[in-house]
Amino acid sequence: MSEKQPNSCIKCNVISCKNHCNSENFCSLSSVKIGTRESNPTGCRSVDCESFESKN
Ligand code: SF4
Repeated sequence: MSEKQPNSCIKCNVISCKNHCNSENFCSLSSVKIGTRESNPTGCRSVDCESFESKN
């Protein structure tokens, strides 16, 4: 498997995601999709990275 390249535009500390760069707190994807399951999100806790993929 090739080494993942951190995308310095996407900071992330979700180390359980397989797109995370492990030693660096960045995402390795070129872009991510952000969404919400709420009808009227009011803060950052209301939104999710929909590009998340579990390592397990
Ligand atoms: S896909 Fe989303 S959760 Fe996963 S490393 Fe990238 S930004 Fe973080």
